[in-house]
Amino acid sequence: MARAGVSLAETANRIAEPDTVAEASKVTDTTMITATTHDFEIEAQLRRVGLRPTRQRVALVRQAFGKGDRHFSAEALHAEALAAKIDISLATVYNTLHHFTDAGLLRVLSVEGAKTYFDTNTSDHHHFFVEGSNHIFDIDAPVTVDNLPEPPEGMEIAHVDVVIRLRPKA
Ligand SMILES: [Zn+2]
Repeated sequence: MARAGVSLAETANRIAEPDTVAEASKVTDTTMITATTHDFEIEAQLRRVGLRPTRQRVALVRQAFGKGDRHFSAEALHAEALAAKIDISLATVYNTLHHFTDAGLLRVLSVEGAKTYFDTNTSDHHHFFVEGSNHIFDIDAPVTVDNLPEPPEGMEIAHVDVVIRLRPKA
């Protein structure tokens, strides 16, 4: 179970609670964060992406990832955090979410120009987007895109992001 960068706090926790060692080793990414995840596990995750594990950031990560897979904007998550009495600035929320995105723990969705939406599910999947309410949800069926263009010289297709925009029937 050798892992780089094991902190003192983490080590202390392991010694104090040997039963959680196996549990902790499973938390290799944020998809494993639940209500029973220890703070030290979230702190380790923050350090792994180069962020100082402040109390606010730990609370924010819990808020963002503790509810299963979902989609949110930084603004919406900030509002949720404030409602949950987490004293954090929008700038810190942005900064944290972008660090997590760079580390591959979140995925940015390009659905609407003005706002960035984040997805806690980083696997390849596609989305429905409801115009007006800006509600985003996963398409739970395979989507095939035919006749993809040849990428320009020297480029390759990284992935195909399908957003199907919805509106109520007239
Ligand atoms: Zn999604």
